[in-house]
Parts: sequence; C-alpha cells; structure tokens
Amino acid sequence: MTRPVALVTGASRGIGRAIALELARRGHLVGINFRQNEAQANETVEAVKAFGVEALALRADVSSASEVADMFRRLENTLGEPSVLVCNAAITRDMLLGASEPSDFESVLRVNLDGVVNCCREASRRMMARRRGSIVTISSVSAQHPGRGQSNYAASKGAVESFTRALAVELAPRGVRVNAVAPGLIETDMTSHLQALAPDELKRRILMRRLGRPEEVARVVAFLCDEDASYVTGQVWNVDGGFKLE
Ligand code: NAP
Repeated sequence: MTRPVALVTGASRGIGRAIALELARRGHLVGINFRQNEAQANETVEAVKAFGVEALALRADVSSASEVADMFRRLENTLGEPSVLVCNAAITRDMLLGASEPSDFESVLRVNLDGVVNCCREASRRMMARRRGSIVTISSVSAQHPGRGQSNYAASKGAVESFTRALAVELAPRGVRVNAVAPGLIETDMTSHLQALAPDELKRRILMRRLGRPEEVARVVAFLCDEDASYVTGQVWNVDGGFKLE
C-alpha cells in the first residue's frame, strides 16, 4: 500500500512538531521543514519514525520562493509527492507600530504570508495535476482579536485567512481542499514570554481558563487533512478554548 506524503512547515518544534507526529500516527510519511534548528528538526524526524513511517528533515526558509521550490523537489525525490501540506511556520515581532521599523513589518509578512503563498503555489501545481490533496494553513486568534503590538502579526494572519478562502475557490473544482486553523494561546516557545508575564490575565480571556497544548491543535489539523473532512473547504476552524470577544 502506498502511504500518503505530508509536508509540515516549521515542524522542528511547537505546534508544527505536534502536527507532524499526529500525521505520522495516522500513517503519513512526513517532510519536516525547519529554518535553523536542525537538532530539533532531527528530534522530530526520530519521533516520527517511531510510528513506523519515514521522515525527512528539510531546511528551507519559507519566505524564499526558490528555497521552497527546492524543498519540494527534495521531498519528491525521497518520500514522494505530497498530498497534504500544512503551512505552519511563522514568526512574531510584537511591538507598537510607531516604535517599529519598516523592516519589522516586512519580515513578519515575508515569513507568515509569503511563506504560505510560496508553499501553496508549489503544492497546488502538483495537487491540481493529480486532482487530489488537502492544504491547511495556520492562522491565529490574533487575526480576529489582536493584542497590543500585534499589528504586523494580525495583518499577516488576516491575510492568510483571506488567501485560504480564495485558494479554496480556485482548487475545489480540482478536488483539492484548503482550510485554515486558528489557534488561541498554546503552550510553545512563541508564547513562553507571555505566560511568564501575565498568566492569570491570559487565562481570564479564555473560557476554558487554560492555555492549549500543541497536540490539541494538531488533532484538528490532522482531521482537516483527512478524508473524514472530505466535504470541508474554505473554512477557518478556531481551536482556542473559547477565546472571549473583548
Ligand atoms: P514556534 O514554537 O515559535 O515554532 C516556529 C516554527 O516555525 C519553528 O519550527 C521554526 O523553525 C519555524 N520557522 C520560523 N521561521 C521560519 C522560516 N522562515 N522558514 C521555515 N521555518 C520557519 O511557533 P508555534 O507556537 O509552534 O506556532 C506555530 C504556528 O501556530 C504559527 O503559524 C503561529 O503563528 C501559530 N499560532 C501559535 C499560537 C501559540 O499560542 N503558540 C497561537 C496562534 C497561532 P526553527 O526551529 O528552525 O527556527
């Protein structure tokens, strides 16, 4: 039996690693993209292989179209053509707009938006030709409810959600589904400084009164990748423990 191949960007740690492991648990061979953290990417590869499936660490900066194209070629030549793409890699540069430089805004948009576009372009060419596939982008609760200092991040994630809906329109006739998952506050490196600063204030904004775990996001992402979600496209799924509208 041929196993499906998945590519997860930003899978060296955090939510991306949890998604890679969940897809492996469901039988996918997994490409583990990372930018600089090779040791942690290799740890993810070993953890994936423990599920009895192949995995490959793929260094590429998703903001570079040429590096992304090369990453897809390397993946194809080893594990095979991906039928699942999860665009998870992202960065934050939280600061008040007036205190920022143009380069701060640009770097967030280049990774968080261009990175998604670059990967989806490569994937959609291949998935359209095969007339099957599933793409999941990772947005954020900040797209709808941004915090102070998040204008760059919120703009990037809002754009990712609009892009996701537009790509779903393009690809639905070719049998390819495109959805987004918008996590709330999840326990990863990205939020460690917030958790240290104001843990109680954070929890007051969440109906379930706790942060989420990467695995709780990963299970929803994997569901959307799966045939179980065969009639779901163009949607944004919140996984946020009930983030309050305030
Ligand atoms: P994280 O712990 O900071 O991990 C970020 C991952 O992205 C790492 O694997 C990193 O690779 C990779 N990465 C960063 N820039 C990259 C680039 N230019 N090219 C390729 N890979 C790159 O982040 P996380 O908390 O798991 O977040 C994962 C996703 O969930 C992001 O889209 C984030 O916006 C979203 N999200 C997170 C939260 C949260 O509370 N944590 C909430 C809402 C949304 P290296 O290890 O090599 O640097």
